[in-house]
Amino acid sequence: MIYLDNAATTKTIDSAAQKMLYYACQDYYNPSAGYAPALEVKKAIDSAKKYVASALNADESEIIFTSCATESNNTAFECGIKNKKGNVVISAMEHASVYESAMRLKSKGTDVRIAPLTKSGTVDIEKFRSLVDNNTAFVSVIHASNETGAINDIKTLRNIVKQISPNAVFHSDGVQAFCKTSTDLHNLDVDLYSISAHKIGGFKGVGILYVKKGLNIPAFIVGGGQQDSRRSGTENVGGIVSLAEAIKEYKLAATETKVSELRDYAINQFRTLDWAKINGLESANTGYVLSVSFQGLRGEVIAHMVEEKGIIIGLGSACSTHVKTNRVLAAMGLNKSFIDGSIRISFSPYNTLAEVEFATKEIIEAAKRLREVMNG
Ligand code: PLP
Repeated sequence: MIYLDNAATTKTIDSAAQKMLYYACQDYYNPSAGYAPALEVKKAIDSAKKYVASALNADESEIIFTSCATESNNTAFECGIKNKKGNVVISAMEHASVYESAMRLKSKGTDVRIAPLTKSGTVDIEKFRSLVDNNTAFVSVIHASNETGAINDIKTLRNIVKQISPNAVFHSDGVQAFCKTSTDLHNLDVDLYSISAHKIGGFKGVGILYVKKGLNIPAFIVGGGQQDSRRSGTENVGGIVSLAEAIKEYKLAATETKVSELRDYAINQFRTLDWAKINGLESANTGYVLSVSFQGLRGEVIAHMVEEKGIIIGLGSACSTHVKTNRVLAAMGLNKSFIDGSIRISFSPYNTLAEVEFATKEIIEAAKRLREVMNG
């Protein structure tokens, strides 16, 4: 099987899985307990936290482990807004976990403003600026798109917000950016940042919320007071330790396999079809996601056709396949005949060029066959 849906999730890296097994079956003690073996478990969490913090150029005190990036994003919205009367700005390219959090605030009366995108799939900076005012309380802009891989200029957007509304809190969803582009958080200078382990070879059910030093946000999940009462619940020890291991291994693999070269190969193949459009390429891009639209075709039919050949690709965000249209591609100005014909190919450093060669050949053949059928 050739797996090219890595933006949805990744295969857990073997050595990370071994760490999980170890903390499940050997050192399984509750890290909050007082006996010596439990203290060793607590130390393992602390050292994982140290590693994760250094990978983000952050301080250990700025890292909170969560159960997933969806929780991190929900926490940011539920607890990160200090001035509850102010307005909220998000972008039109947010993941459902940010978008729905914003919609929940809107349903309770908050003025939620949505910044439009350029055709290249990043936030339109001038239009974004016009939405921010001195009553803006909270802003959330995704760092890299899960639909196209397009990278937003987070530092510029953050500076615009702080100039106009110095007390506003700036959050960014970094799930598709971490380990794929620079996520030096002290340089980006954001207040809150979300990460998910399972997009980079870690386990599902493990996330991070970075909270900048000095920003004291109330806990979203209260209870036993774990993690200095900032996020209660017994820590997912294996998940946390294996995340640190996954980061190390994934980054190493990324130095050996240049993922953007895999993507560029695929792009050159798709460019031979004048009825195929590649989305989000004109902007900076992680190189890990490739969105292609075959005009007049149906993406899900192509995906089913290639699945029969053992190739797994995506259609858009896997978290929202129940949603009828692709909100992000629509915001980029694509019309329905392109949106319906969209597929998402997403890579990992564990993919090979041979896999991508075979997959692109099969995808193109499937699209050509479907086009013939549709054109009678
Ligand atoms: N944000 C983005 C950009 C994502 O791609 C995803 C996963 O699809 C999430 C958030 C949610 O991550 P998790 O599955 O850890 O809740």
